[in-house]
Amino acid sequence: MEHSFIMIKPDGVQRGLVGEIISRFEKKGFALKGLKLMSVDRAFAENHYSDLAGKPFFNGLIEYIISGPVVAMIWEGKNVVATGRKIIGATKPADSDVGTIRGDFAIDVGRNIIHGSDSVESARKEIALWFSEGPVNWQSSLHSWIYE
Ligand code: GDP
Ligand code: MG
Repeated sequence: MEHSFIMIKPDGVQRGLVGEIISRFEKKGFALKGLKLMSVDRAFAENHYSDLAGKPFFNGLIEYIISGPVVAMIWEGKNVVATGRKIIGATKPADSDVGTIRGDFAIDVGRNIIHGSDSVESARKEIALWFSEGPVNWQSSLHSWIYE
């Protein structure tokens, strides 16, 4: 089964959106396979966003991510990477549809409250970085009510 790395950024934690965000993934039917509140240092944040090094907003992005605790999660389910991106909405909240997390709760691209892996390969790398212990091994008793 596919995994995605989902992170509630410091603004999402400060604004009290942790429960709301987790609830949206839970209600969809995805299964929580890893969860931790953590503060990351500059080197760790730069590693996570290494693909964006050189972008004009890179330093601001790193300051943002290290400005407070984040909630790091592994979610599991069929097509969870692509569907997770739909639940999150477009990078720029002005372009995010109403009903998506960013569309409902964010205004500025530099305060867009949540991260989600953009491909199965990115998810694999991000989970290895954030969860060296790997996913928690459990099976939801709802499985046969969610999957045919
Ligand atoms: P994502 O995959 O939708 O999160 O978007 P990207 O991978 O392209 O960018 C990572 C993060 O960098 C975004 O979620 C934003 O927080 C930030 N970011 C992206 N583009 C911009 C920008 O043009 N300006 C600023 N300030 N931040 C940006
Ligand atoms: Mg991205």
